[in-house]
Order: sequence, then structure tokens, then C-alpha cells
Amino acid sequence: MPPPDPVAPDLLERLVSLCKQRGFFFGSSEIYGGINALYDYGPLGARMRRNVRNLWWRAMVELRDDVEPIETSIIMNPQVWVASGHVATFTDPLVDCTGSCRKRWRADHLGDLRRERGKPEDAPGCPECGGRLTEARQFNLMFRTHLGPVADDAAQVYLRPETAQGMFVDFATVVQATRRRLPFGIAQQGKSFRNEISPSNSIFRTREFEQMEMEFFCKPGTDLDWHSYWCTERMRWWIEDCGVRAGRLRLRAHDEDELSHYSVATSDVEYLFPWGWGELEGIADRTDFDLRSHMEASGRDLSYFETETNERYVPYVVEPAAGLDRGFLTMLMDAYHEEEVRGEKRVVLRLHPDVSPWQVAVLPLSKKPQLTEVARSLEQRLRNRFRTEYDETQSIGRRYRRQDEIGTPLAITVDFDTLDDNAVTIRERDGMTQVRVPIDTLEQACEDQLVASRAAALDRARTAADQAGQSAQPQRQG
Ligand code: ATP
Repeated sequence: MPPPDPVAPDLLERLVSLCKQRGFFFGSSEIYGGINALYDYGPLGARMRRNVRNLWWRAMVELRDDVEPIETSIIMNPQVWVASGHVATFTDPLVDCTGSCRKRWRADHLGDLRRERGKPEDAPGCPECGGRLTEARQFNLMFRTHLGPVADDAAQVYLRPETAQGMFVDFATVVQATRRRLPFGIAQQGKSFRNEISPSNSIFRTREFEQMEMEFFCKPGTDLDWHSYWCTERMRWWIEDCGVRAGRLRLRAHDEDELSHYSVATSDVEYLFPWGWGELEGIADRTDFDLRSHMEASGRDLSYFETETNERYVPYVVEPAAGLDRGFLTMLMDAYHEEEVRGEKRVVLRLHPDVSPWQVAVLPLSKKPQLTEVARSLEQRLRNRFRTEYDETQSIGRRYRRQDEIGTPLAITVDFDTLDDNAVTIRERDGMTQVRVPIDTLEQACEDQLVASRAAALDRARTAADQAGQSAQPQRQG
């Protein structure tokens, strides 16, 4: 299938440069030369990530009556990772270059890495320098550390490589505490850590990242229907709640030979990045594998008694597991536009208004106190309803450009006429249209404009859906 949308090959570089300049994200500990594949989120990035987390939380917890939230510890009893299979099999094949560059690569990524560097996928040797590669050996991706003062084997623990195991080991406690009946889900958001062999493409693949995961426990036999339900619901979330263009999204069902041994159906939500399709979220039918493994290893009963039928069984689980960092990168990338306005380049992030760091910027036309006093007090008033920023630096034209670049949907200008007519101008980011609005009704006017902005975001996301056609439909297996 041809790609539904052309994607500029150097989009990532342009976006990364904008994001550093404006404070979305940048390398961690840069004053010491940085540290590989670890990132910091700046003032705008931290704000925007919180918005994305909140959207997920709203859709997956607050608006549902069948999901409970938890927060579990990052370091767990190491037996958790033995039972889950991570100690034995959470590995990637690693190869070393014996040529001039001496780099390490993931053996199963070599084809892609060569393609990214403009070489044939099946070219022999190292993707970088062409040098001879060693035989692949398995490398465990879990970070190890020690609990307590003695650094011996008995004290060895792991930083969690996923948040999901917290939901499995706490399943019985949550059922007991909430008196939940099946089907129901347990959700959490939090940091995970993987010692990735070849982190790549900025924050797409990092060694510390944040996941948003939910384990949906259901009766065996109903799991495939729930899998299909969650595929549809999660695609809807990316498109409708976050405004990601459907034409650049697809739901890809894993082939039989790609499925994990415990899964009967897995589909990935993928986005078309400049380097190809990349996974944002995996939706897996994990059967009863995890609960059974923990039952066997811990000796605790994690089965469920269905009072309606007098049946006892080990629940099946459907897991939608999304990455916050990849979602955040996707939303920035999908929103990035360059256009020409009156002979000048305008960069604009057409972010969904529920995702953008700010919703409303308040800008006095000049630094004259008559204007700044009004503008400051207006911004403080609007803070109660919207995410607002006040900015009085530079010319008004440059401030509009800056707000466009950081994706603020509305900019309110206080000018000298305001002192006479008690009205301000609202400028809308995408169309750059301006309307004059009385200060008395400003909150309502902003609300109306944001409603229009949400509708426009939805329209944009869906229009692309029509072009992509069937790729947005869930597929089933098993
Ligand atoms: P991949 O195949 O890209 O390594 P995965 O299939 O191992 O990903 P899962 O274990 O299904 O990923 O994790 C769920 C989600 O967590 C992924 O869809 C992704 O959004 C996120 N994620 C996983 N690994 C990383 C990473 N190293 N950096 C950033 N996000 C990640």
C-alpha cells in the first residue's frame, strides 16, 4: 500500500531543533555532554505531556465505570521478573562491529538501519562502516541494581521494563478491595526502563520512558471480542481525543509467527514516521499467561469466582499498552507545518487544543503600563478556565510567530483601542483570523473558539482517515 501521506525525510531534525529551542525536550545532562538515549522535558514539554497523560486518564479511567487505577513501585520483588519470563527471555539479539566504528547493533534491526543510511537492506556487514559483524548473542534489556547496602547477588533487583506486572501481582488485592466483578480493568501510568541496544530517532526509542497501560480482565472465551473492542477504542483515542491524523495511523495485526507464545491476538497502533511505520501502542490478548505464571511462582490463588454461575477460573487479559514519549513525539510531528505567509516562512504546530501546552496567550500590544496592567489582569482572570500564558517581550508579530510555533490555538491582544472600547482581539492560530470581542464576554468567546478549534482538529484527523481507508479498521486473529 503506498504511504497515505508524504512525510518530509528531515522532519525529525527540524522538529528536534524547534523542540530544543522552545523548550519541549532536549538531551539529559547536556552540560556534561549528555547521556545516550536519555532526555529531559522542558517547560512546554512537561506541560504538554501532562495534558496527554490526562487525556489517557480521562478516557481510560474517569469516563469508565469498569477500570480501576493503581500506582505500583518501580522496583519489585525480583521473583516477579522470573515468573513473568523477563529474566529468561526479555532479550534482544546483539551484534558487534569488528570494523572501524566498533558499534553495537540489534541484529533484527540491521535491515532497517541500512535502509535509513541509504544502503540496500541485505548489504553485508555493519550498517555504519561495512565492517564484519560478530555472531548474534542474546542481551537482557533489564537494568540491574542492588537493594540495600550490600551489592551481592542476593540483593540484585531490576528497574521495571514495563508497568504491566504491577497490575497482575496486585489483581487479587484490587478485586478484594473494590469488590469488582469481571470484566474490569486495572490501569496505571509510570516510568519503565529498558537498556535498549540501539536507541534511535530521538525520543522514539529511549532507555527511560513512560507507559500508559491497562490490563482488562475478562472471562475466557470473551477475550477476542474484548480485543477487538479495545483495538477500536484505542484507535479512536489517538484520532479523536489527541487529533493524530488517521491517514498516518494504522492498526496492524501481528502475523502468526510474530505473536508472543502466550498471545492469541496482538495488534499494534502504528504511525507513519519519516523512517517508516513505528509502534505507538500494542494491544495484546495475553490469555491467562501472566496470572497463571504468578500463581505457580508465588503459590497464591489468583483465580476468580463467578458467583452468577458458580464457576472458578483464571481470567484472560487484554492489554492496551501505550508509550507516552512516542505519543508525545507523534503529536508534535503530526502537528508540524511550514507554510509561506506574505513571503515569509511560518512554522505552526497545529496541536489539538487539549494537547497544546497553552490554550490562550495574552499579549499586550506594547510594554506601556496602561496596556500591560489590563493584559496581566485579563490573563490572571482567564487562568481559572484555561491554560494561559502572558507574554510582553518583542514585537507583536514575533510573539504571534512564537505562539504559532508552540501550538497555542488562541492569542488575545490588548491594544490602545481596548482602553476606549473595552474589547480585545482574539487571533486564531490556524487560519490567523481575528475577531474583536468585548472583555466582559471574553471567557465565553474563548470557550466558543476552543470548541471550534476542537472540531477543526477532529475534522483534520478524520479527513485523513478517509484517505487511509481500511488501514484504520481493527483486524482479528486467533
Ligand atoms: P518495540 O518493538 O518498539 O521495542 P515493544 O513492542 O517492545 O516496542 P511494548 O513492550 O509493547 O513495546 O511496550 C508498549 C509501548 O511502550 C510501546 O508501544 C511504546 O510506545 C512504548 N515503548 C516501549 N519501549 C520503548 C522505548 N525503548 N522507548 C520509548 N517507548 C517505548
